[in-house]
Amino acid sequence: MTKPTTTNTGIPVESDDESLTAGRQGPILLHDHYLIEKLAQFNRERVPERIVHAKGSGAYGELVVTNDVSKYTKAKLFQPGARTESLARFSTVAGEQGSPDTWRDPRGFAVKFYTEDGNYDLVGNNTPIFFIKDPIKFPDFIRSQKRLPGNGLRDHNMQWDFWTLRPETAHQVTWLMGDRGIPKTYRHMNGYGSHTYQWINATGERFWVKYHFKTDQGIDFLTQAEADRIAGEDADYHRKDLWEAIERGDYPSWTVYVQVMPVAEAEGYRFNPFDLTKVWSHKDYPLIEVGKWTLNRNPRNYFVDIEQAAFEPSNVVPGIGFSPDKMLLGRVFAYADAHRYRIGTNYAQLPPNQARAAEVNSYSKEGAMRYHYNDPNVPVYAPNSFGGPHADPETAADGGIWDFDPTIVRAGYVQHAEDGDFTQAGTLVREVLDDAQRERLVDNIVGHVLGGVREPVLSRVFQYWKNVDADLGKRVEEGVRAGLDSSQG
Ligand code: NDP
Repeated sequence: MTKPTTTNTGIPVESDDESLTAGRQGPILLHDHYLIEKLAQFNRERVPERIVHAKGSGAYGELVVTNDVSKYTKAKLFQPGARTESLARFSTVAGEQGSPDTWRDPRGFAVKFYTEDGNYDLVGNNTPIFFIKDPIKFPDFIRSQKRLPGNGLRDHNMQWDFWTLRPETAHQVTWLMGDRGIPKTYRHMNGYGSHTYQWINATGERFWVKYHFKTDQGIDFLTQAEADRIAGEDADYHRKDLWEAIERGDYPSWTVYVQVMPVAEAEGYRFNPFDLTKVWSHKDYPLIEVGKWTLNRNPRNYFVDIEQAAFEPSNVVPGIGFSPDKMLLGRVFAYADAHRYRIGTNYAQLPPNQARAAEVNSYSKEGAMRYHYNDPNVPVYAPNSFGGPHADPETAADGGIWDFDPTIVRAGYVQHAEDGDFTQAGTLVREVLDDAQRERLVDNIVGHVLGGVREPVLSRVFQYWKNVDADLGKRVEEGVRAGLDSSQG
C-alpha cells in the first residue's frame, strides 16, 4: 500500500493533481499552501554549482592498510590493518553540471576518509601536477578555460592564450593533450594527491609525502574521436559506468602508494618539491605501498551524498600536515569558503560531510539550517570554567607548522618591559582618575558583579581588580561582600 503524500511538515494533503481554484475555470487560490510549497520547493532545488568540478560522480568505499608505514606517520587511518570508510567524488574541471563526461579535461579525484580523529580529505586530480603554481593565478586560469563573457562560448584561443603566456602550464598541458586527457572511465584512471603533504610520526619526525592511487583496473583512455562520439550519445557516460560497476558488484579499486622525502633532502632536490607543476621522479623516490582503496557503495541520493559533499584540503588529521606548496595553502582557504557560499555555513552537518567516529566538540553555533545543537550546559566560549572543551596541543593536528621555518608559530606577542596585562589599567586607575571617578568605577563594578557573578568566578574577579590596583580590588571585594550580605540578610 502506498503511503499518503504529506506536506514538508508531515500533514496529509488532499491532492497531488489538482490545484485549489475558485470554480472549475477559476483562478488558483493563494491558500492552497501545498501547491505553493511544491512550486517554491521546486524553484529552490538547486544549490549553486561548483565554479570548478561542477560535473561529478561519486561513491562510498573504504581504505584498508596493507603495509606498515607507521615509521612515517602516526595518522590512525594509515596504521597497519586499519580500515576506514571513505567517500570519493570524481569530476571534470571546466564543464558545467550537464556537460559531457568525455570532454578533454583533467579529472578531479577527491577522497574523504572518515577517521576516528575527524575527516581527512585528499582533494587531488587524476594528474600528479597542475597548470599553475600560485593560487593568485587560479581565477585567471579557470576563467580562461570556461566561457567568453560576451557570447558565452568556450574558446580555444583563450585557453592557449593563457597557457602560452604562463609556461609553467607546459607539463600539465602535455598530460592533458596526451592519452590521459580523456580517461576511458573513472575506474581506469589513477588519482594523485598532487600536492606535497607532510607526514608526522609518533616521535614527531616529519617527512614530505606525495600520494598515488594507482588503478587496479589498468589505465585506459578514449581517443578524441571516441570521446566526441560518446559526448553526443551519452553525456553521463562516466557517471553511468561508475554507478553500474558498483551496482553489479564489480567494485573498482586502487592501490595506494606514497613517495616519501626526508625533510633534509628537500632543499637540495633537483626539482622544487613544493612546486605543483613538478613531480618527484619515481627513480629518486620510489613508490611505497600503503593499502587498497575500494569503492563499494553507490550514493543513496545523488544530491544529498555527492552534490552536497564538501571536500576541503584544510581537513588534515593528526599525523598529516601541509607543506609550503603555495597552491595547497591557497586551497586550504578556498575550499571551505566555497562550501560556505555554495551549501551554507553548516555544511559539515550534512550526511556526506559529518564526522563519523570522532566526537565533534566545536564551539561553532547557530547559523542558517543548524541541525546539531550545542549542549545547553556547555558554554559557547573559550576559555571557560564550566567544562567546555579545551584545545590540547598534545592531541592536535599540527598541519600548519613545518620544522624548517621557525617564523611560523602560534605564540602571543613578544613581551616588552612594561607589557604586564594589568600595568596600564593600574596607571589609569591611580594616575588619571580622580577620587570621584574611582568611586564611580568601584560602584559600577560592584553593581555589575552583584548582577549574578558566582564562585569560582567571584574570587577571580576580586583578584583581577587587586592585580589592577590593590586598593581598588579591596574596595570592590568589600562592596560586593556587603551587597551579598544584605541580599541574603
Ligand atoms: P618514471 O619512468 O619512473 O615514471 C613515468 C610515469 O609516467 C609512470 O609512472 C607512468 O605511470 C606515467 N605515464 C606513462 N604513460 C603516461 C602518459 N601517457 N601520460 C602521463 N603519464 C604517463 O619517470 P619519472 O618518475 O622520472 O617521471 C617522468 C615523467 O613521467 C614526469 O615528468 C611525469 O610527467 C610522468 N609521471 C611521473 C609521475 C611521478 O609521480 N613521478 C607520475 C605519473 C607520471 P603509470 O605507471 O601509472 O602508468
